[in-house]
Parts: sequence; C-alpha cells; structure tokens
Amino acid sequence: MTTNHSLDLIKQACTKLGLNLTPIREKVIGYLVAASESRTAYQILEFLQQSDPGAKPPTVYRALDFLCMNGFVHRIESSNSFVACELEGQVHMAQFFICQACNQVTEFHSHKLSKILEEEAALFDFSIQQEILEAKGICKSCKS
Ligand SMILES: [Zn+2]
Ligand SMILES: [Zn+2]
Repeated sequence: MTTNHSLDLIKQACTKLGLNLTPIREKVIGYLVAASESRTAYQILEFLQQSDPGAKPPTVYRALDFLCMNGFVHRIESSNSFVACELEGQVHMAQFFICQACNQVTEFHSHKLSKILEEEAALFDFSIQQEILEAKGICKSCKS
C-alpha cells in the first residue's frame, strides 16, 4: 500500500507550491488515491457525507476543480469520473487505459502519441488545447 506515501507527497507538493490543501480537499484526494478505479462526483459526495452529513455537491465540485487545476486529479471524460494523478502535482497531458471488467484506470504518458496528434492537427490547421485519450479494454489481472 502506497496510499499514505502518496498523500504525504501531495501534501509536500502543496506546501511547496503554496497551495491550500483544506481538510475537504485532503479527504477527496485521499479517497481517490486509495482507489484504483475512477470515482464519480456522486461517489465522492457519498464518501464525504459519511463523516460530514452536511456536505453538498458544490463542496465536491469545488474540491475537484482545485485538484484538477493543480494536477493532482484527472477527469476521465468517457465516464465523467475522476482519478488521482500518479505524478503528484505537475500539470500535464495524460493518456489512460481503462479496464472494462474491473474499472481499473492506468495512467501513462506517451510523447509519441501526443506528437502524432499534433502532426495530424497541423494538417488541418487545428490547434489542440486539450487532449483526451482513453482506451478501453481488459487489464492484465482480469485476463488471468
Ligand atoms: Zn497525471
Ligand atoms: Zn481489470
């Protein structure tokens, strides 16, 4: 289990970057770090309500905005859900493999893929502002 370790790294990154990791934000990122699959905003809200029955959707969305904007969390567009980033606190493009059997999300960073997209976009004189690459399939552990 690397859960506490990851959370420590995130706390350190926040301190270094001068970001305010409020208790709510810390709870949300802790919940996502502990999960190997992505979680919806609704699941996060339910989790928060276990310790804080008054938690409301805007609380969750504000915390997710902060975490996404600062590179701690990625949004999985195809399932409208969220995963903790593996590179604590650096904003970057990422690609994902999503297992359709267990929902595990694996983040990877392929400069080759990004470069191919850029080249294709150039042919159409298209400027990419956000790159979303999500491949669905079956992960290693679900195959065996
Ligand atoms: Zn990432
Ligand atoms: Zn799987």
